[in-house]
Amino acid sequence: MIDISIVVTASTPEWPGDTPFSCGWTWQMAAGASVNVSSITMSPHVGTHADAPLHVRDGAAPSEELPLEAFVGPAVVVDVSHLAGDVDRRALRAAGLDATPARLLLRTGRSIVRGPFPADWPALTAECAAALVADGLLLLGVDCPSVDRREAKHLVIHHALFDGGAFILENLDLSQAAAAWYDLMAAPVRFGGLDAAPVRAVLRPTHTGF
Ligand SMILES: [Zn+2]
Repeated sequence: MIDISIVVTASTPEWPGDTPFSCGWTWQMAAGASVNVSSITMSPHVGTHADAPLHVRDGAAPSEELPLEAFVGPAVVVDVSHLAGDVDRRALRAAGLDATPARLLLRTGRSIVRGPFPADWPALTAECAAALVADGLLLLGVDCPSVDRREAKHLVIHHALFDGGAFILENLDLSQAAAAWYDLMAAPVRFGGLDAAPVRAVLRPTHTGF
C-alpha cells in the first residue's frame, strides 16, 4: 500500500494565518505519571484532510456527515505537474484521462510534503469541475493545499464540487503514486461540527492501466 498522508508535525506548514499544529503533554511518565498523554491544537486543514461543505457555506453539512462512499473506492491518479495554471478537460485528456472517474486525484507537484507552503499551484477550471461533477465525479483529491488556486477569493471549485454532490481531499502526498488506477481508502476522522476533518489516506495498486 502507498501511504498518501502527510506526517503532521510542528513544522508542517499551515495555510498562512491559519492555526498551526502544536503538541503538549497532559501527563508524562518521565515526570512520574503512569502514562504519556499528549494534547494537540491545530486547524483541521493542516496536513491531509477532507473539506466539509460547511467550509464554504453556513449551515451546510459538517465534518461528521462526510459520506464514506466518496472517500473509499476506485480512484485514478493523473499527473498535471507540468502545468502552471488552469487544468481543463483537454489537459486531463492529454494526461491520459479519457472518461470521468468517480474519484480523481491530481498530482500537481506543489505539495507541502517536502518544503514550504507553495506560492501557487494548478487547479481545475470552473467549467471542467462542473462537467466532471455532472459526469458523476464523487471526489477530487489534490496534493496541493487547495482545490482552488491560492489567491482565489470565491472558491468556485469548492462550490462547484459541493453543489454537485462531490467531496474534497487536500494536502495529499502523491510523490510516490505514479499515474494509474488504485483503490483509495481515505475515511475522514469523525469529529463533529467541524468544517474539515483529518484523513489517513492510502492507495492500493490495482494493476489497471488507463
Ligand atoms: Zn481545506
